[in-house]
Amino acid sequence: MTIQQSPSIQHIPEGLPEKIQHYVDGEFVDSIGGATFDVLDPVSNQTYVQAAAGQREDIDRAVAAARKAFDEGPWPRMLPRARSRVLNRIADIVESRDARLAELESFDSGLPITQALGQAQRAAENFRFFADLIVAQTDDTYKVPGRQVNYVNRKPKGVAGLITPWNTPFMLESWKLAPALASGCTVVLKPAEFTPLSASLWADIFREAGVPDGVFNLVNGFGEEAGDALVKHEDVQLISFTGESSTGQTIFANCAATLKGMSMELGGKSPAVVFADADIEAALDATVFGVFSLNGERCTAGSRILVERSIYDDFVARYAERAKNIVVGDPHDPKTEVGALVHPEHYDKVMSYIEIGKSEGRLVAGGGRPDGFDTGNYVAPTVFADVKPDARIFQEEIFGPVVAITPFDTDEEALALANGVKYGLAAYIWTNNLKRAHNFSQAVDAGMVWLNSNNVRDLRTPFGGVKASGLGHEGGYRSIDFYTDQQAVHITLNEAHSPRFGTQSK
Ligand code: NAD
Repeated sequence: MTIQQSPSIQHIPEGLPEKIQHYVDGEFVDSIGGATFDVLDPVSNQTYVQAAAGQREDIDRAVAAARKAFDEGPWPRMLPRARSRVLNRIADIVESRDARLAELESFDSGLPITQALGQAQRAAENFRFFADLIVAQTDDTYKVPGRQVNYVNRKPKGVAGLITPWNTPFMLESWKLAPALASGCTVVLKPAEFTPLSASLWADIFREAGVPDGVFNLVNGFGEEAGDALVKHEDVQLISFTGESSTGQTIFANCAATLKGMSMELGGKSPAVVFADADIEAALDATVFGVFSLNGERCTAGSRILVERSIYDDFVARYAERAKNIVVGDPHDPKTEVGALVHPEHYDKVMSYIEIGKSEGRLVAGGGRPDGFDTGNYVAPTVFADVKPDARIFQEEIFGPVVAITPFDTDEEALALANGVKYGLAAYIWTNNLKRAHNFSQAVDAGMVWLNSNNVRDLRTPFGGVKASGLGHEGGYRSIDFYTDQQAVHITLNEAHSPRFGTQSK
């Protein structure tokens, strides 16, 4: 039986905007053609606001503003320390408004309020981190004694197009905005259409922090319209994209015509591998949290749990017990552990996988709507055991509170199962055997590995996936590398020894 709060008491934040607009060159504006779209909240699934639906001409206007700010404005030319001060002010403002940000984010996305609060604080930390990084930035210099000095002149790339998903909207936007702005780029952000509310808050935050007009521009709208126009715009130098692997493929192809720089953070189906010699209690805590936090709408979710056979039955029983005890409820209630999925379309997708799973595995927890929840996108934490590696619920990203558990007998089999999917974002390994831990970590197809840990990230480390989970790594200085060009400048210290063409007598 899934534990639940009363679903009937919905918290509606005070002071919701009357409409959500674009933000271009320091001003809130409607779409040029007046188009809008409905934004629903995931608890009532009622439209609570209309958002401006950006079209090609709206992207053109935003890119023109960003271009002008880049070519003529102070932002790319400021001393790193001066930009850093602005970024720190942004972090201060975000921190001071974390409760309000969390309230709005939770309302718009269905994320549990306590987890939305953590995401708001992480967004502030992203700005603080890149504020520090740019003042500490060093670049390469190479000396050829007596002949040459060669140095790297790092320059912001230009106008950055930032395209983000709906799962942790504000935090993921900060993950791109902070390094792009720190590097001196100007930006056009196209946030996800399911969750445009928190993105509109950046405008005032940046204005108050002293970001010049035109440096940050926001265009709301659908991926196929606003997103597509941004990707194809010839005055945009790079696209940083986070979203589904199939969308990434489309964007990859569409960037070709204008030869844009690209960074792609895509989908995942990450394994959590639990060996019999692990601290089972710690593994249980982490693997339950790893798939059910953020409503399971988490790219790095450990959504396939591989368990050594000698502890398998006990682990499955204890795991199912924990899943049944998870508190599903109103996203605004601080006791809620799993809230409402973002949108009815996504809810339908997750539910269809649960139905598929019923013929592919042994259902040991959840399996549908939790009792007592007649409306809203609520899904009971769902656990399938004995899932075969060719099952769709083993292979495909569900992006909801659904997990597949599979037994293994040997290290080799565990590795083959872990690597036997198209994705390669994260992996979580649970063992107290030092050699196994490192050998397994190094062999697993994953951009990021956590050993005896849930997903706790040091901001200096690379972030990204391999295989269908991504292309290029951001994180720490790699993000600065992505948003800047490194121009090589070569200086001759002595005579220029050029072969003398055109001096031979004929
Ligand atoms: P999505 O691909 O549907 O949409 C992401 C963004 O792309 C949205 O803003 C959307 O409007 C835009 N878009 C869609 N089609 C486009 C097009 N043709 N051209 C330009 N833009 C377009 O993804 P989603 O459903 O919003 O997010 C969930 C996905 O994101 C999951 O697959 C998840 O794993 C992934 N994700 C990955 C990471 C990571 O860091 N690897 C982090 C979070 C989410």
